[in-house]
Amino acid sequence: MANAETTPGLNFIRSIIEADIRAGRNGGRVHTRFPPEPNGYLHIGHAKSICLNFGLARDYHGLCNLRFDDTNPGKEDVEYVDSILADVHWLGFDWADRLFYASDYFEKLYEYAEHLIRTGKAYVCALSADQIRTYRGTLTEPGQDSPCRERPAEESLGLFRRMRAGEFADGAYVLRARIDMASPNLNMRDPVLYRIRHEGHHRTGDRWCIYPMYDYTHPISDALEGITHSICTLEFEDHRPFYDWVLDNLPVPCHPQQIEFARLNLSYTVMSKRKLLELVDKAYVRGWDDPRLPTIAGLRRRGYTPEAIRDFAEKVGVAKRESMVDMALLEHCLREDLNRRAPRRMAVLRPLKIVITNYPEGRVEEVEAENNPEDPAAGTRWLPFSREIWIERDDFREDPPKKFFRLSPGREIRLKHAYYIRCDEVIKDAEGRVTELRCSYDPESRGGWTQDNRKVLGTSHWVSIAHAVDAEARLYDKLLSVPDPSAEKEQKDFKECLNPGSLEILSGCKVEPSLARAKPGGFFQFLRQGYFCADPDSTPERPVFNRSVTLRDSWARIEKSQQEK
Ligand code: ATP
Ligand code: MG
Repeated sequence: MANAETTPGLNFIRSIIEADIRAGRNGGRVHTRFPPEPNGYLHIGHAKSICLNFGLARDYHGLCNLRFDDTNPGKEDVEYVDSILADVHWLGFDWADRLFYASDYFEKLYEYAEHLIRTGKAYVCALSADQIRTYRGTLTEPGQDSPCRERPAEESLGLFRRMRAGEFADGAYVLRARIDMASPNLNMRDPVLYRIRHEGHHRTGDRWCIYPMYDYTHPISDALEGITHSICTLEFEDHRPFYDWVLDNLPVPCHPQQIEFARLNLSYTVMSKRKLLELVDKAYVRGWDDPRLPTIAGLRRRGYTPEAIRDFAEKVGVAKRESMVDMALLEHCLREDLNRRAPRRMAVLRPLKIVITNYPEGRVEEVEAENNPEDPAAGTRWLPFSREIWIERDDFREDPPKKFFRLSPGREIRLKHAYYIRCDEVIKDAEGRVTELRCSYDPESRGGWTQDNRKVLGTSHWVSIAHAVDAEARLYDKLLSVPDPSAEKEQKDFKECLNPGSLEILSGCKVEPSLARAKPGGFFQFLRQGYFCADPDSTPERPVFNRSVTLRDSWARIEKSQQEK
């Protein structure tokens, strides 16, 4: 799987911009925009575009606008507008006073449309959508002129005004550009500029019953805002001639340059808004912010930091060629960030009880634990230690395989920051399931070290039973069980590729007392278990933690070598 084709910081878009600045084009100005359609939540692909557009503005002392491309009534919603504003801010970018809506330009767009009609560059067409498609021709055959193509400008103008006035039903007429029905580029064969839609809009209400098409709206919006570099994804490359045609044929204030780059594709997930909407609507996931989704809201809830996402966007870079980026790279960026910053905590996800038989009953002592070995400034905290503790069930095997370096009968291990313990006895229930271990501790090993420096096989994390807080942990795995459903031999619906094990809920976790106060969004490294963050579902009585990403998984290696034996 490839990622960057150019080194970050010196990609082809920057080369173009630097050449423009050197040539004094646009008076040396750099003005970009991020133009989402408010018909869904933003995802990691949008984050790449946001980092790119706002990043260029920052690096070249320019500006970046946030503009909603809201030309599709019905599919768009203020819920999406609000989530997009929140997500862009959360990623660390700011549009200052430059928040725009394409719908704010509806009047201007209408005037420009009349201008095109008057100059013979547009006409009102009565063909149905199906007919227009048939008349358009194919890649190998030229299109056929619409019978309305030679309609006099005055007549088109009259009809267009009556379209606006609401005299016609949906689909009765459209306004089309008059370009070239034989153009090798299908987008130039008299594309539709306006259609009739008797439908309310989330901002303009019922003021309009004709709506401009995206391809017509976008270049004009860019020009009205003084955009210099209009950066979009590769599927718009074939639309660029029309982008330029619109601007060349209208008295707009400037002519921005459209530049295309390859969209971000990420393995083991879906990035199309349509698919994401389907997963949310049909409750395959718990909402737009489900931590399994690649939405910004989902990543945030999962425990991703803006720093990690920005770093990821930088690392994947921009290229002209489509590629699939490995999900592991995104996870790597998060680990790097959290390794530096996340406080270390003890949390036992699948608890097994230990009674330390030679430790005095009723005694509690405090042991000192460092908060982050990567960050001396993070300091230490005190953890209560007592006769009864929880350890991880996985940290014990009655019949240990060869490479199992943890507790088993007769063996000694270190309890992190506390003492050495040795397993003396295994207690089981009627079904033979281990319910408790009886151990003895070495009082000389306080802090987890002994005078004779004797070696132990492993170190376990633990929590004192009397002081533990009950918690829930939500462990996430890949959303899809294959990297790319469209590359599967038998073409399947992407929903058939959903990973049934993408969410595991552990409700009986035991965590150290300080975690009861974890604020939603607060992130931690649970020793040996991964990076976790507190979920908004948390209460002080019962905190809930999402596993953001695992640590490097040595456990999987042990399992594997065991299977091989
Ligand atoms: P659709 O148009 O199908 O609703 P979209 O993903 O194109 O979906 P937009 O809201 O139009 O969504 O996208 C806003 C901006 O984000 C556009 O400039 C688009 O090119 C960019 N963008 C969208 N998806 C990606 C992606 N996967 N990688 C990079 N940029 C993207
Ligand atoms: Mg789009």
